[in-house]
Amino acid sequence: MDNSTLTSLIGAPVKAGERLARHCSWRVGGPAEYFVAAKTVEVLKRAVQVARAVALPYRVIGRGTNILFADTGVRGLLIVTACDHHRLTAQSDAAILYAEAGASLPLLANTLAKQGWAGLEWAVGIPSAMGSAIVNNAGAHGSCIADVIQQARIIDGEGREITLTASEMQFAYRQSRFKGSREVILSAEFLLKRDSLEAVGERLRRFNDYRRATQPSDPSAGSVFKNPPGYYAGALIEAAGLKGAQVGGAMVSPVHANFFVNTGAASAHDLLRLIRLAQERVAERSGVRLEPEIEFVGEWGELIPAPAERPFDHAA
Ligand SMILES: Cc1cc2nc3c(=O)[nH]c(=O)nc-3n(C[C@H](O)[C@H](O)[C@H](O)COP(=O)(O)OP(=O)(O)OC[C@H]3O[C@@H](n4cnc5c(N)ncnc54)[C@H](O)[C@@H]3O)c2cc1C
Repeated sequence: MDNSTLTSLIGAPVKAGERLARHCSWRVGGPAEYFVAAKTVEVLKRAVQVARAVALPYRVIGRGTNILFADTGVRGLLIVTACDHHRLTAQSDAAILYAEAGASLPLLANTLAKQGWAGLEWAVGIPSAMGSAIVNNAGAHGSCIADVIQQARIIDGEGREITLTASEMQFAYRQSRFKGSREVILSAEFLLKRDSLEAVGERLRRFNDYRRATQPSDPSAGSVFKNPPGYYAGALIEAAGLKGAQVGGAMVSPVHANFFVNTGAASAHDLLRLIRLAQERVAERSGVRLEPEIEFVGEWGELIPAPAERPFDHAA
């Protein structure tokens, strides 16, 4: 299989060897064997169908803000959701938002807040696509996707297109049935409520101000580790003396210890070694095992021995 055959089968340009550093917020990562930007839901569906039909490993991604791509790259077909259509159906003081998988979560949060629709303000600082926000049950400021989602249109593990209700998505803290599964989210619907422009605008400003004051602006993937029950991962890393610690071009942010930043020339390997260092030091000092919130994607060889952290390719 070559990229021109894939291009004609999928009906959208498939590139070979696209650098993944261009498609993730950490700005690291080697080439994708094959790469396609799905600008419509139809292309997204076809890319998945074709990959399944020709037994090519595939993975669908959003903005790459929760992924560490390996320096050696990724086998198979990387499908970026660039389908970003949305529409609002309003009925007096409630509205249903329909959004495609590639819609920008912060853009929608901003746009809807300016129209006086409440429900997504908490997401204003999360640089996510809508589909991946559902996969991760993204959340902030005490709210999350599970609070507002009504249903999603997906391709299930057997390749069938089906609709799931919120309760079928098995949401938990930064978790859903989609994480680590072969299912692909195409679009979803959310319930919003009418609120005063002042109230929604005030929450938006407060959340934006909070982020600016507490989070670094250098390239990162947000929180590297989940907060273990009863702890804050950042506080544990800071207590282990690692704020500002560096491995190559990767650094524990002096602003927020659960954010690891690329200071300019970091490799994925640098970031992985810094992640390991934090896990070891925190375990030594606090006896707590930090579990990554970010995902490791690609070919790591012996670098990732722990089964829970093995890179995962959706094999057809
Ligand atoms: C500065 C910064 C701040 C952040 N703050 C927060 C925060 O406050 N709260 C929070 O929860 N997260 C936060 N994050 C982390 C991150 O933005 C979220 O996890 C987000 O939901 C990931 O979105 P993405 O589009 O980048 O997903 P990606 O990293 O591209 O993908 C994430 C996962 O979803 C899968 N996936 C993507 N799209 C689909 C699809 N359509 N169907 C099936 N699987 C799919 C991917 O394969 C991957 O497994 C932050 C990140 C940064 C960089």
